[in-house]
Amino acid sequence: MTAMNVLRGSVAPDNRPLLRKLLGMLAITAERELTCEEAATLLDYYVDLEGRGEDVARLLPELAHHLRICPECEEEHAALAAIVAGELV
Ligand SMILES: [Zn+2]
Repeated sequence: MTAMNVLRGSVAPDNRPLLRKLLGMLAITAERELTCEEAATLLDYYVDLEGRGEDVARLLPELAHHLRICPECEEEHAALAAIVAGELV
């Protein structure tokens, strides 16, 4: 929320150090976006946790986020989850 306010220019111009800090944080967040390759590496683990009823969105937030924005990985995730579900029956 604070970052959005900065981007909309509602932070005073003399507050530059804060602005720089926030923009730095945003840049770091962007760098933390997973690639599809990294997502695929984590997917087995993710589905395993999910199958055990763990809170995957909290444990692997980067991957949970990637699955929301990447249809290909989400498809892969759905296929793996279906296999895991089948094994549990
Ligand atoms: Zn992906």
